[in-house]
Amino acid sequence: MKNKYTIILIPPDQSSTHQFQLSKRGRKYLGAGLLLFGLIIIGIFAQNLYLSHYIKELQPTIVHIDQLQSKIEERDQEISNLTEKSNQVTKDLTEITNLEAKLSTILKIHPSTFATPLSRSTNLATQSYTPSTPQTQTSASNSSTLAAHISLLQKYYEAAVQQKEQLDHTPSILPVQGQISSSFGYRRNPFGGWSSEFHNGIDIACNYGTPVLATADGIVTFAGWNSVYGRKIEIDHGNGIITFYGHNSRLLVKNGDHIKKFAVIAYSGNSGRSTGSHLHYGAIVNGKNTDSLTFTNPTKEE
Ligand SMILES: [Zn+2]
Repeated sequence: MKNKYTIILIPPDQSSTHQFQLSKRGRKYLGAGLLLFGLIIIGIFAQNLYLSHYIKELQPTIVHIDQLQSKIEERDQEISNLTEKSNQVTKDLTEITNLEAKLSTILKIHPSTFATPLSRSTNLATQSYTPSTPQTQTSASNSSTLAAHISLLQKYYEAAVQQKEQLDHTPSILPVQGQISSSFGYRRNPFGGWSSEFHNGIDIACNYGTPVLATADGIVTFAGWNSVYGRKIEIDHGNGIITFYGHNSRLLVKNGDHIKKFAVIAYSGNSGRSTGSHLHYGAIVNGKNTDSLTFTNPTKEE
């Protein structure tokens, strides 16, 4: 029994014990095994310690990488938004260009009357934008071109409004429905005799009481009795144009009234120096009696 160790295992419930006998060699193996086991445990522990330290050191870098990743995603989103906007702007520009073409045809204005959009856009781009990326540069030049187009359209609109205003104030219709019985210029005296007289307007034969319309927008400068034209109305249309309407049976407007084209201003009649029911329609342009038919028939003007 020399050189042999005995290991006795005593269970807690006081039942029979277990005995193991270890030889010298067995003890060596057990010792070596325990040592190896201990070394492995220490190795694992050391590795864990090293790894946790390493991860701790890497943590800020990982966080930084995460931040960069989300920034890249944000940028991607921005780029796609800008691209979308840029596409929309391009579409808008095309639409505006088409509108401009249509407008210039309607207004008979050559687009070069106003500054060209491209030269304007380069000016605007250098003045108000310091682009940081190619995307925003495209967007900036697009929006400045857009601004130039909008300002051009604004000018077209103003030109259109001005032209409409001018058209509204230019006599362009006949004041009554009827037959032109006497034209503008020298004619034989309708009251008999061989003398000729200057007829400063046109006569339109019509039924007594026919509505008389204002031939353009304007302000009434006379509404009353005249020894020659009877119940007479005179309208100032601005731009040196005045029209007058004679021989009416009844007047519907008074001095100072603002009148729109097509407004009924009187009823026709036979008042004043007249040989029958008709309307005398005259026009004065820059102080000179003018053929009032030139307004209703534009080809006569040219
Ligand atoms: Zn007349």
